[in-house]
Amino acid sequence: MYDVVIVGAGPVGLFLAGELGLAGCSVLVLEREPEPGSSWRAHPLGMRGLSAASVEAFYRRGMLHPLRTASGVPDDPAADESAPPRSAGHFGGMVLDPAGIDLAALPFRLPSPASEGMLTSLEAVEEVLAERAVKLGVEIRRGITVDAVAQDEESVAVRVGEHEYAARWAVGCDGGRSVVRGLAGFEFVGTQPQLTGYVMLATVADLEKLSPGFTLTPTGMYVRMPTDGHLGVLDFDGGAFDRSKPPSRDHLQAVLRRVSGTDVTLTGVQLASSFTDRAMQTTTYRRGRILLAGDAAHIHSPLGGQGLNTGLGDAMNLGWKLAATALGHAPDGLLDTYTRERHPIGARVLDWSRAQVSVMRPDPYARALQEVIRDVLGTRDGTTYVFEKTSGASIRYDLGSEQPLIGRVSPEFRLDDGTRLGDLMDDGRGVVFDFGADRGLRDSAMGWESRIRYAAGAAKNDLGFGAVLVRPDGVVVWTGDRVPDREAFERAASRWFGTPAA
Ligand SMILES: Cc1cc2nc3c(=O)[nH]c(=O)nc-3n(C[C@H](O)[C@H](O)[C@H](O)COP(=O)(O)OP(=O)(O)OC[C@H]3O[C@@H](n4cnc5c(N)ncnc54)[C@H](O)[C@@H]3O)c2cc1C
Repeated sequence: MYDVVIVGAGPVGLFLAGELGLAGCSVLVLEREPEPGSSWRAHPLGMRGLSAASVEAFYRRGMLHPLRTASGVPDDPAADESAPPRSAGHFGGMVLDPAGIDLAALPFRLPSPASEGMLTSLEAVEEVLAERAVKLGVEIRRGITVDAVAQDEESVAVRVGEHEYAARWAVGCDGGRSVVRGLAGFEFVGTQPQLTGYVMLATVADLEKLSPGFTLTPTGMYVRMPTDGHLGVLDFDGGAFDRSKPPSRDHLQAVLRRVSGTDVTLTGVQLASSFTDRAMQTTTYRRGRILLAGDAAHIHSPLGGQGLNTGLGDAMNLGWKLAATALGHAPDGLLDTYTRERHPIGARVLDWSRAQVSVMRPDPYARALQEVIRDVLGTRDGTTYVFEKTSGASIRYDLGSEQPLIGRVSPEFRLDDGTRLGDLMDDGRGVVFDFGADRGLRDSAMGWESRIRYAAGAAKNDLGFGAVLVRPDGVVVWTGDRVPDREAFERAASRWFGTPAA
């Protein structure tokens, strides 16, 4: 009997497995593919943009350096400063100018080694996460396709043919076509597609006919990526293309010609796949002892690159809560806060992708809207607004407090002795900063020593707070004044970390 069985060793399943392993749970991951990595997950087709929020999650678990190494991105000492990001993404194919972002307007920002997003590949992310998970005692079994799941009040049975794996909890991280979602009876609701998208690695006779980067056209959009022959096309066909088979060269060429308005010629196609902008989400992320995370819980078009980032956010949010529940020290209702916090974030991402599809539609209304959005993106406020949404900086969970830092991922507080929040979070405990000279929270914090790390000392910049309590996923749940209220701290610690040890 495992504490948790995870179905799917994609980035979300592996991140979650590491979080559970870190907390001391016994974890089994079952993965359909016999081997890690494939042409779909390696560069260039597996190329993915990680938001600053995701990069920060890797940093706070001590995985930033390995991730940069695996992604071929050099460590950047200058990234410690609050410099403007080097790229800032796009909205519906309209690219943001990073110089237009007003960094001072972003809430609660402190210098951090992880202040920027980065480009990586699914392969690099999975390699780093699998290595960490295995080091933490997680068992990963590959070449195993889960085909049945059943639960009772005590446990979950995950079945593969005749074989059965028993666990106290199961999490479906098995992607957009999740079998766990269907087998466990989750309701999956949303909107039907307006378009079919294609990504391909092709040999092109006359690549110069296509403009580099994103190009919006009267019939859709095409993207010419930096790697020669790595192309994307969006075709507003109402999602009519039959996606059960890979698109042929002739079909891809016809669509690319129509959308780009050129007579470009594909002489060969090495790899190609299709997707749609179907935007669906389960109505809850938990049914009894079975939970969902990542694409299994929400799907949408890849526009604006948010699926992986949202899934990693799910895993960071769920990991410590499920671990505390499985290990028996979670306060009542902790696990239910997973759906309560993450479902609205997923819903917002779905709407963000719908909004982008709306401005790209090949009709005069959408073209008129594009002009408005272009004007807005030409302003500092407009660029900053979109960047806040796509970088994760706008995420704030409603934890019932009006204090604007509560519910946000904590800024990178740094004590005078140089210790940073990121140095304190790699063992998966929460952290309480006590910035006052009299260390007023020390005795109270000792009661939660196994779950909360106590860090005392003056901060280089305490942003006006006397104390801050941070959950293991980096989210601030309580702040104190210059002379912090001990009882208020103890109430917050009990609410999130359970009763103190005797
Ligand atoms: C073209 C494209 C570009 C994208 N770009 C970005 C981007 O820049 N940024 C971003 O944030 N997101 C991006 N995304 C989205 C991102 O790739 C996904 O959201 C992310 O991979 C989801 O991770 P996951 O772990 O939830 O699912 P997956 O990556 O799909 O992993 C699921 C795993 O479960 C396994 N599995 C499935 N069924 C079973 C079963 N029955 N039994 C056992 N194992 C099973 C699969 O083999 C797989 O390994 C992009 C997507 C596409 C298509």
